[in-house]
Amino acid sequence: MPLKNNPIQPISVTQQDRVTQQTHHFIESAADYYNQSFSDIPVLFDLTGKAAGMYRVKAGQSVIRYNPYVFAKYFDDNFNETIPHEVAHYVTDVLFGLRNIRPHGNEWKSVMQVFGVAANRTANYDLTGVPFRQYQKYIYRCACQDYELTSRRHNKVVRGTGHYLCRDCGSKLLFVKNMEKAG
Ligand SMILES: [Zn+2]
Ligand SMILES: [Zn+2]
Repeated sequence: MPLKNNPIQPISVTQQDRVTQQTHHFIESAADYYNQSFSDIPVLFDLTGKAAGMYRVKAGQSVIRYNPYVFAKYFDDNFNETIPHEVAHYVTDVLFGLRNIRPHGNEWKSVMQVFGVAANRTANYDLTGVPFRQYQKYIYRCACQDYELTSRRHNKVVRGTGHYLCRDCGSKLLFVKNMEKAG
């Protein structure tokens, strides 16, 4: 994983504890406000990439994941905004079901209002120094449009073991350039 400029150290265990406590604090305020019980869900610090936080349900288990590098760089902002942001996703999931609502729709906004936090969809931080994976994307072009090919496909083309045709015009995709992409 290439690091850009000064690598940032992830937040300490003490800070993780504060974040976990604050997460539970918001879950409890939702329980009070909606007069409904919300189970305490796992809080993980295993998120990488550019997002500061993520709420997800996998195999029926709700989890909130935080990015310990983004928190390290902007601790107060993320403490005040990312935590209620992700808890609000969890709360709307319990109240309405994620399938039935838009991620940052009115239901989510109303929970943010209950938390007394401005409902910004995502914060736009300068993440210089936050490690994230970078990979190459390969731009190809046919007679009618551009395509992004994976490195696996690009390597096949380079080795002559594969070629790709446009779904629409049927002409052969030709390599244009490669670009670095953050993921
Ligand atoms: Zn969100
Ligand atoms: Zn085409």
